[in-house]
Amino acid sequence: MFDYLQNLNEAQREAVLRTEGPALVIAGAGSGKTRVLTYRIANLLKQGARPSSILSLTFTNKAAREMKERIASVVGENTARYLWMGTFHSIFARILRVEHETIGYPSNFTIYDSADSKSLIKTIIKSFQLDDKIYKPGVVASRISMAKNNLITPSAYENSSEIRTADKSMRMPQIVQIYKEYAKRCFLSGAMDFDDLLLKTNLLFRDNPEILKKYQERFGYVMVDEYQDTNYSQYLIVKKLAAAHKNICVVGDDAQSIYSFRGARIENILNFKSDYPEHKVFKLEQNYRSTQTIVNAANSIIAKNKRQIPKKVFSENATGKPIKLISALTDNEEGFMVAQEIAQLQLRDHYKYEDFAILYRTNMQSRIFEESLRKRNIPYKIYGGLSFYQRKEIKDLLSYFRMTINPADNEALKRIINYPARGIGATTLSKLEAAAVNNETSIWKIVTDLPTINHANFNKGTVGKIMKFVALIEKFRELSANNDAIDTAKTIAEETGILKELYTDKSPEGLSRHENIQELLNGIQEFSINALETGEPEKLENYLEDVALLTDQDNEKEEDKNKVTLMTVHSSKGLEFKNVFVVGLEENLFPSNQNNDNKPEALEEERRLFYVALTRAEENAWFSYANQRYRWGNLDFCSPSRFLEDIDGQFLDSSGVAAQVSPARRAESNDDIQPERYHQNSVRRQAPGAFKTRESQNFFNKKLVSLKESNKVQNTFQGDAPEKIQTGMV
Ligand code: ATP
Ligand code: MG
Repeated sequence: MFDYLQNLNEAQREAVLRTEGPALVIAGAGSGKTRVLTYRIANLLKQGARPSSILSLTFTNKAAREMKERIASVVGENTARYLWMGTFHSIFARILRVEHETIGYPSNFTIYDSADSKSLIKTIIKSFQLDDKIYKPGVVASRISMAKNNLITPSAYENSSEIRTADKSMRMPQIVQIYKEYAKRCFLSGAMDFDDLLLKTNLLFRDNPEILKKYQERFGYVMVDEYQDTNYSQYLIVKKLAAAHKNICVVGDDAQSIYSFRGARIENILNFKSDYPEHKVFKLEQNYRSTQTIVNAANSIIAKNKRQIPKKVFSENATGKPIKLISALTDNEEGFMVAQEIAQLQLRDHYKYEDFAILYRTNMQSRIFEESLRKRNIPYKIYGGLSFYQRKEIKDLLSYFRMTINPADNEALKRIINYPARGIGATTLSKLEAAAVNNETSIWKIVTDLPTINHANFNKGTVGKIMKFVALIEKFRELSANNDAIDTAKTIAEETGILKELYTDKSPEGLSRHENIQELLNGIQEFSINALETGEPEKLENYLEDVALLTDQDNEKEEDKNKVTLMTVHSSKGLEFKNVFVVGLEENLFPSNQNNDNKPEALEEERRLFYVALTRAEENAWFSYANQRYRWGNLDFCSPSRFLEDIDGQFLDSSGVAAQVSPARRAESNDDIQPERYHQNSVRRQAPGAFKTRESQNFFNKKLVSLKESNKVQNTFQGDAPEKIQTGMV
């Protein structure tokens, strides 16, 4: 036994030492599940297991990186490097690239992100002359995704009367045709979407027992973190890989299952016992992350869910302070008050900015917090939303990279064939695309064939322009074959004219786009240096793979250290922060009323999400809500979330909840109002002052519009510079 095991409690140690046979670690948040996996791997390596025989699947690349670093500190970097550790998508993309021939794909297949998928689906809907108000691309995409994650191929889809009936009842009987066409066009483009990476792996293993056997033998140990959020496709891959030796260890918490909308199946955890009758269950009960107050409050929340595996969770950490309630009049005030708390606490208790996180239910809530933090010069980083890699200029340049690696990539080609402008118009492009569809090939094949086969009878001028584009891409392909990522990328940015075009645009937007490209190139430089250091391949295609597989948590850059974190609760899974603000705790926002039709299961999932949010906190937690909020351009009147009532009142501190001056009165007065303060013991369902009638709502709406014009609405907080209430969305 090595010292390292001293850092584990009895139950954790047992789970770490049970290296052979199926093991299920089921435990509440913060009880050291991820730590068990990490130490288990370190222990296996210490005992002489080959690093390449250990497969561990995590939810984010960041989690994999952190685990790898910790393991490296025990067994050394040279050993840790060879572990197969990463997200399902990144590990199986790697395997599919090796086995590409068997599934008929090129090894350099492109990975379509959700924007690419949606754009392709849109194109198909249009080409089928369907109404995109009925066939909404997002909805169609999620039907296709659901099918793939349940291993329903287009032909299985066609044969399933149940699914077809469901489609018909949604007035979209032709989804099956769209799915078929989508799968075909992806194939012709040498592209896979995220779900394909899992689906194709399943098909590969199903149809090629010798290949499955190879990987079963390679991976003597299989481990999965956050098992409660695996979907059927992921579940099956793991099951197949572990079928021979059954050395499988999964860790999870049914109370943290929050991805059912993406096909995650809580049953996977529940069925582990019947899947592996010889299994052993390890229950971890001590939470090491949070204060007793936070753990007990979280327990009181989750106890309200009916469907769950009973679990005990306790903490022996300090009792800690009660969770502070913040009740704001408006969403702007909520932002203001949260920023104020952060500023005060940071000064008073010497916290670093990185010790704070603001967690919200939906990305659109971030704007207000960004503004309030910026006003106080509090540095922050934001995860998710429109990520850096989705910005137009970045996607344009990445599309050149993608074409360079896989020129059959239709979605990339469509973005850049006329960017920067080279006189190839929309009509030309649609003719090219039609020719590609008719000939069942890629657009690239059509354009490279142009000198010999002119499918669409283009005139000489057009052919000349297209051939120039072809020559450019050919040149880049040659370049990338002989150079590393950064040299190739720089040359592409220059020779396409993208850098110059953005440089000459001196508008603030143009400058910022130019900076973004520079930032992308810096990232590639960093990638090349890292690759050199670790001995990993350093080609453009390797960089692209990294970028394609980024998750919401992975956008962290070096300069992001010591900043407040803003993220959705979903992306906070597995993370921890000293201080956590769970914001927007209002009915219809958290719990969200999106796609749930008030089903009890959906509400239970929202409650689990709330449990995840609170259990990220180590020392202090806050819950905030606003009594009025702009949503979709309208002023909504909100009542506090029912979840606040779930919590045992003894864990809450509502002393700071200000009396709500009637918003109507407040708006009427135009002046600074000093809100009276009052104490309350329980949370109100209906905030005082919230409007009960439509008339009073309308009155307030009108008032706010006129106040916006006169710019007189002031913030009401004592001692702070008055701020304008954000009324930009009126
Ligand atoms: P989550 O459910 O949120 O994913 P988890 O069960 O994976 O949580 P970990 O992240 O592994 O929990 O651990 C929570 C915190 O407790 C971490 O900071 C970890 O280092 C610490 N911890 C876990 N076990 C111990 C222990 N035996 N002694 C001291 N600290 C521990
Ligand atoms: Mg964890």
